[in-house]
Amino acid sequence: MDFLKDMIQELKEQNLYIELPVLGTEQKNRVVLNGKDVIMMCSNNYLGFANHPRLRNAAKAAIDKWGFGTGAVRQIAGTMEIHIRLEEMLAEYKRTEAALVFVAGIAANRGTIQAIMGEEDAIISDELNHGSIIDGVRLTKSARKIYPHMDMDGLKKALLETKDARRRLIVTDGVFSMDGDIAPLDRIVELAEKHDAMVMVDDAHGDGVLGKDGRGIIDHFGLEGKVDIDMGTLSKAFGCLGGYIAGRLELREYLINSARSFIFTTAQPPAVAAATMEALRMIQDEPQHLRNLWDNTRYFKKAMGGMGFDIGRSQTPITPVMAGESKTAMELSRQLFHEGLFAKPIVFPLVAKDKARVRIIVTAQHTRKDLDDAISIFERVGKSMKLI
Ligand SMILES: *Cc1c(COP(=O)(O)O)cnc(C)c1O
Repeated sequence: MDFLKDMIQELKEQNLYIELPVLGTEQKNRVVLNGKDVIMMCSNNYLGFANHPRLRNAAKAAIDKWGFGTGAVRQIAGTMEIHIRLEEMLAEYKRTEAALVFVAGIAANRGTIQAIMGEEDAIISDELNHGSIIDGVRLTKSARKIYPHMDMDGLKKALLETKDARRRLIVTDGVFSMDGDIAPLDRIVELAEKHDAMVMVDDAHGDGVLGKDGRGIIDHFGLEGKVDIDMGTLSKAFGCLGGYIAGRLELREYLINSARSFIFTTAQPPAVAAATMEALRMIQDEPQHLRNLWDNTRYFKKAMGGMGFDIGRSQTPITPVMAGESKTAMELSRQLFHEGLFAKPIVFPLVAKDKARVRIIVTAQHTRKDLDDAISIFERVGKSMKLI
C-alpha cells in the first residue's frame, strides 16, 4: 500500500487534502474545536436543532421504548412502526402522497436516480449539482447532459438534444451549497412540462429554511404537486441524520423494491426517527427558530456587505465571503480561527480558481453577541489582509 503515500502527497499538492477538525463539545453556536473556543460559523445546523432539548428528549424516550439498533435492513425486519410514522409525517409536511426515509441524503440521491433511470433514458443535470447527485447519475447507464449553472437556455437545449430518450429526468439542487443561490424551479418545471420531462429537486439546504414553516423550495415557489421527486435530508436544518424522498405512492413503492442504497443497508435507529419527528413538530409549533435564522442572516450579511466584503449572490443563509485565490482563502480561515471564529475555506477545484472563499452559515442559535463578535473578527482580519 505504499502508493497511498504518493496519492496523499498528490492531494496535498492539489489543495485537496483534508484534516478532520474535531469538536470537543456538542454542535452549537459556540464550540470547542481542535481544543480551542470558537464561534461556529460553518455548520448546517440552521435552526439550532442538533442539540435541542426537545430532540434529545424525544430520542431518549424512543431508546426506552424501542431500544437502540434496528438489527436488520428495512425490507427484512428493520422497519418499525416509528419509521412508518416518520414517513407519514414527512409526506404531510412536504404535502406529497408518500415519503421514504433513507439512511442518509447521499443514499437517497444515489438510490433514487439509480433505480428509476435506465439505459434508454437521459438525465439532465445542473453543472453545480451536489456530489451525491453526480454519484447517482454515474450509477446509471443513462445518457447525460450537463447544463451551465442555472442557465435555462442551456436546459432547453439539453431537452431538445435528448428528445428521443425514453424518459428524461431534470435534476437540480434547490439551494446550491457553495453560493447559496436558489434554482429557478418555477422555470425548470415550466420547461419540463413543455418537453414532457420529470423533475427532481434536492432540497438539502432548503428544508427547514425556505417556504412556510420551512417546507422547502417547492413551497417557496408554490409548486406543490408539480415536482415529481422531492429529495431532502434530515441531517441539516432538522438536526438529525438521514435522507428522504417525497412524491407519489408508487414512487415510494418502487424505490422500496429497487433502490440499492435503500435495500442493502440497515434501518435507521428509532431514536433518530423519533428526534426527526420532534424536529418536524418543532418547526411548526416554534416558528421563532426560522424567524431567528432569517433575522440573523440579514443582520450578518448587511454588516459584512457594509464593511466592503464581497459576499456573492446568495439568497439564503449560506454566505460566501470571497477571498480570491485559494491561498488567500486558506489564510483567511486560519486567521479567523486564531481570533476565535471557525469557518472552513473552500478552494479550487471545488470552486473556480479565482473564487476561493470561506463559507459562512449563520444559524438561528447565534446570539446578537455571537454575530457582533464574528463581525468584528472579520473586520480585524479583513483589514489586516487588505480584503476590505
Ligand atoms: C448535504 C447534502 C446532501 C447529503 O445529505 P446527507 O444527509 O448529509 O447525506 C445531499 N445533497 C446536498 C445538496 C447536500 O448539501
